[in-house]
Amino acid sequence: MEQDGKKEKTLVIIKPDGIQRSLVGELIKRYERSGLKLVGLKMFVPTDAFIEQHYSLDPDWKMKAGEKAIAAYDKKGIAPPSREPLEVGEKVLRNLKKYLSSGPVVTMVWQGMHAVEIVRKITGGTEPLTSDVGTIRGDLTIDSYAVADTGDRAVRNLIHASGSHEEAQKEIPLWFKAEELINYRLLNESILYDVNLGGILE
Ligand code: GDP
Repeated sequence: MEQDGKKEKTLVIIKPDGIQRSLVGELIKRYERSGLKLVGLKMFVPTDAFIEQHYSLDPDWKMKAGEKAIAAYDKKGIAPPSREPLEVGEKVLRNLKKYLSSGPVVTMVWQGMHAVEIVRKITGGTEPLTSDVGTIRGDLTIDSYAVADTGDRAVRNLIHASGSHEEAQKEIPLWFKAEELINYRLLNESILYDVNLGGILE
């Protein structure tokens, strides 16, 4: 966490399926009502090369994504497409580039105490089939690794959210220029952060 925890930031991307499903308002609402503050927001169509850059910020991403996918198959007793994590990760990246450059995305930066963890909790686990009810991926869509892999495409799970504080610090400057992030006071913050509550009763 940053020294001033209230300033912790995280990146959220509404992927093309979120926009095509007309869920932009619902998705923003889920993060907004948590108490986090929206400090950056824009919409554009990312290129294939830009998505490659995003997922190359963590040099181990392909390995980790492959391991995660293989573990999910094993847990369900289904044979993974390959036992080689790098091979699985490579395929996931190829399909992700196609998916995320297929149309407009909405990108946001949310700020506040525990921003990274709170956003991951609201978003839910990677695979909609197994992500918890009450989360975005658990409530609002229905995809699975098995069906996505059969169709040779990425899992359509509506959202990208930074996985850790370190990831957020690398991802935010890639997607936003410093001047696109706005420093402002939100009146709600006093109820979330102030030690003493004063000035409520007249
Ligand atoms: P996230 O941080 O929860 O989004 O998960 P990852 O960073 O591991 O994966 C990035 C994205 O790749 C996911 O959000 C999915 O859209 C897609 N994806 C991940 N694993 C798989 C997989 O095993 N198969 C397929 N088809 N897509 C995957």
